[in-house]
Amino acid sequence: MTVLYLAVPCYNEEEVLQDTTEKLIKKYEQLIAEKKISSKSRIVYIDDGSKDKTWKIITQLHDKYELVSGLKMSRNRGHQNTLYGGLVTLKDYADVVISIDADLQDDINAIDEMLDKYEEGCDIVYGVRKKRETDTFFKRFTAESFYKILKSMGAEIVFNHADFRLMSKRALDAFADFKEVNLFLRGMVPMVGFKSDVVEYERLERQAGESKYPLSKMLALAWQGITSLSVKPIRMIMWLGIIIFLLAVLSGIYSFVMYFFGKTEPGWASMFISIWALGGLQLFAIGVIGEYLGKVYLETKQRPRFIVEKFLNDEE
Ligand code: UDP
Ligand code: MG
Repeated sequence: MTVLYLAVPCYNEEEVLQDTTEKLIKKYEQLIAEKKISSKSRIVYIDDGSKDKTWKIITQLHDKYELVSGLKMSRNRGHQNTLYGGLVTLKDYADVVISIDADLQDDINAIDEMLDKYEEGCDIVYGVRKKRETDTFFKRFTAESFYKILKSMGAEIVFNHADFRLMSKRALDAFADFKEVNLFLRGMVPMVGFKSDVVEYERLERQAGESKYPLSKMLALAWQGITSLSVKPIRMIMWLGIIIFLLAVLSGIYSFVMYFFGKTEPGWASMFISIWALGGLQLFAIGVIGEYLGKVYLETKQRPRFIVEKFLNDEE
């Protein structure tokens, strides 16, 4: 039977842990009774160097409930690093790992459907938010624009999916080969491939405590997403240079014509053209250098170049 580990990153979550645990244990008992998961399954709280009583509470919960385990990170490293560390650590104990935030804003009832998809042969199941009614207009607008910008930059991400997802051990083994340190998990996971699907759910309100993602962290995450997944911003510099240079050529022709009609001040044409032409060339040159820098950047990530899904091979 499927051994399910739940990876729950926690940063200063003392207010929600008790409630979250009760809900999750209920869910686990139901899943175990329905024989959807094995009783060896666990709920693992991953403490991201919290400054409050989070770790103490996790220890108590672990003593009290057999289903609850705890993983403590050496210090605060942020949600993405903590989650990655959790996933890669837990894959050795589980058949599937589902990641979910400690505040249970993501509907735990979607877990049933995720497991069904896993049984149907999916290695990755993305949780996708149906509506964002509980989010403020500001959060909804910024989040949705962010997905669109990332798409236009050529990054492959699942629209309205955050970090609520199921990954099989096989997918996680492949994921562990991604050596990059600037993590933007929801952009990296689709690169793993394998059969994937989505499960829709309604995003709820945070139960207690406040968001550990203030605007500054949200912006940092968005910037991380763009710059980790795409070198297009560099290419944009190059294109801007080319366009400006072309404009200089056009205005060169224009001022040349004007010169013949005697409609220019002395020195105007040469000044005008050289400013634009040099500016354009400089941007173009920076873009070319950037292009190489972008290649170096991608190389340093040492991402796996391929991941084999199946090998049909008859040997004696
Ligand atoms: N989190 C973390 N480290 C951090 C910040 C957040 O592990 O430095 C965890 C947090 O405990 C929660 C998840 O990341 O489980 C998402 O945070 P939150 O719910 O506050 O974000 P929001 O839902 O407001 O975007
Ligand atoms: Mg939340």
